Amino acid sequence: MRSLLVLLFLFLAGTGYAQTLPHHQLNIVLHPEQHSLSVKDLITLPSGVPRTMYFLLHRDLHPTSPDAEINAAGEMPETWLQRYRVTLPPGCDSLTLNYSGEIFHPPQQDAREARTFESTPGIIATEGTVLTGDSGWYPSFGDGMLTFKLDVALPQGWHAISQGKRTNVSDAHAHWEERQPQNEIYLIAAPFTEYARSNESVESLVYLRNDDVALAQRYLDATARYIAMYQRLIGPYPYAKFALVENFWETGYGMPSFTLLGSQVIRLPFIVGTSYPHEILHNWWGNGVYVDYASGNWSEGLTAYLADHLLQEQQGKGAEYRRSTLQKYADFVSAGRDFPLAQFTSRHSEQSEAVGYGKAMMMFHMLRRQLGDDVFIRELQDFYRNYRFKRPGFADLEQALSQASGKDLKPFFAQWVQRTGAPQLRLVSAQAHYDKARSSAAGYDLDVVVEQTQPGPAYTLDLPLAVTLAGQDAAYSTVIAIKDKHSELHLQLAAQPLRVDVDPEFDLFRRLDRAEIPAAFSQIFGAEKLLIVLPRKAPEALRAQYSGIAQAWQKQPSRETTIKWDDEIEHLPDEGAVWLFGWENGFRGEFKNALEKNSAAMSETGVRFGDGEYQRAQHALALTAHIGTAHIGQIPAAWLAAPDAAMLPVLARKLPHYAKFSYAAFSGQELTNLAKGMWPVTGSPLGRAVKQEDGNAVDVPRGKLAIRESLVR
Ligand SMILES: [Zn+2]
Repeated sequence: MRSLLVLLFLFLAGTGYAQTLPHHQLNIVLHPEQHSLSVKDLITLPSGVPRTMYFLLHRDLHPTSPDAEINAAGEMPETWLQRYRVTLPPGCDSLTLNYSGEIFHPPQQDAREARTFESTPGIIATEGTVLTGDSGWYPSFGDGMLTFKLDVALPQGWHAISQGKRTNVSDAHAHWEERQPQNEIYLIAAPFTEYARSNESVESLVYLRNDDVALAQRYLDATARYIAMYQRLIGPYPYAKFALVENFWETGYGMPSFTLLGSQVIRLPFIVGTSYPHEILHNWWGNGVYVDYASGNWSEGLTAYLADHLLQEQQGKGAEYRRSTLQKYADFVSAGRDFPLAQFTSRHSEQSEAVGYGKAMMMFHMLRRQLGDDVFIRELQDFYRNYRFKRPGFADLEQALSQASGKDLKPFFAQWVQRTGAPQLRLVSAQAHYDKARSSAAGYDLDVVVEQTQPGPAYTLDLPLAVTLAGQDAAYSTVIAIKDKHSELHLQLAAQPLRVDVDPEFDLFRRLDRAEIPAAFSQIFGAEKLLIVLPRKAPEALRAQYSGIAQAWQKQPSRETTIKWDDEIEHLPDEGAVWLFGWENGFRGEFKNALEKNSAAMSETGVRFGDGEYQRAQHALALTAHIGTAHIGQIPAAWLAAPDAAMLPVLARKLPHYAKFSYAAFSGQELTNLAKGMWPVTGSPLGRAVKQEDGNAVDVPRGKLAIRESLVR
């Protein structure tokens, strides 16, 4: 979903949009060569609007009206917008506005955002046109909600796309109409090739800048497949079509009934099965049911849960996905940087993503576990049906789900939406008793002590436990409600308990213990303090590249980064994180020792890990490890090196995309990936052998966990 700029002022205080909305009938002529457009907008106004109204329009569009006088009425924080006042004559319920002029703001990088695309409030150019509500390309009244019908006259060979339904197909003109309430009107146009598939109830469209039938077909098929899946899961798709539109700079936007993706993004092979279904699902959450941003954005978490998580769950990788979600939270969100979900509006950093997508996604997962799949799905269906084209907030969601399930979900929502932070768990002890007096049906008692170690009050949690039993392959799984910092749990079991695992499938939103997390690049990229150590003894060309990468990474504003040559420091720091560069690095010996805990062996000529062996003279490598320190135990560290100076800038550019991994190996000038993965986790503090009556505790592997059904197939 697009990030909305700022909520527009409520000029029509009190009237709202419940009854009717302004309806715009727009006749547009696009002049890409002049970066301009001219428009006649016939606006039908809702009954009962005040005679004097205000609207926003781009400051270079100079509106006039045959019906009323238009006056400038103040500046806006968005400098390209102008506020106007119009007073209608009595008895007049429509207004015609004529305006024309230039809208040309070339896309720019947002300085706040490290890993995002360029953006613009709006552009009309020969490469293409992208106009949104933020552009002020049509007059926006009140809270901006409206319905519309538009006719665009286009240059030869151009197509234009907006929301909703295509009402007429003709040369040189495009016609779109949407009668359901919309937050804004989009107008995208360019010289496109159009592909269509319309044998389903919803039309699938693809607009590419160059002819590519195979690519278009992949997306047309995916559109039909995902829309069918989500219609089964949630309810009818709310629009007449879904279109994939290729942009002329790199973007990843989901708008109502279409998505605007950059040329490179579209051609990444995994997008059609990852970001693409996410954007399609936003037509239900975010662009179908809208979001009341003032109380926090719930739609990203729900969309991540029912797209990103669901697609992994369908492949049996739900627990893995949840673990990496929790890992991002642990890596990027330190206590001082945390904030409650109620304050999330849109993603602008790894940290805001870890809360706004990650924590929210886990909240929906916990809700599902608590209610059961059937109730959870039914409630989502009800919520969708009741709030389509409205703007519910978290409080509406809470109320809707409480009503439908007959449970008071207020404490649940207060805990996860309003409260900052996460629970932290510790498995203190697990002790078995054999009760000779009881029949053999439940002859074993197990006492488990679990503590919540986070600062502040206890959380109310449905704690999943898996108990591995003597003589049984499958572990016994159960869920126990806890609400205190110190919980003593009693279980009666039919067989001898050997091992206990707390939350083995990462069903709870919680701060993972360091030992549950393998070292990963995200821990170094996400650190608040980073030391980069450069190799003085490396050849000149490599030294220059290593130093260049260090300086580029030093620019990350959310981190305090220090750069040192290896001969300038005596020892590695006790806190923060460390990047070591180069085979020649004086501290490589310490890293080599730390790597051994991950079953990776480093020699003078290469590194061996997983199933592969990688050569110093041939491969670009990046590895992580936890390095022991004198005082605080361990800090995350990483090492990177390449044999050829030309490989290093490519490595530096690629690595942030491997943030969740522990290691990555590449070959060739293009840096083709050869290996990537996470070190195995050993010694989780949330799993332990049960202490038997005789005082012994023998460690055994965890029993098998039952395979879970995905929410939908
Ligand atoms: Zn999204």
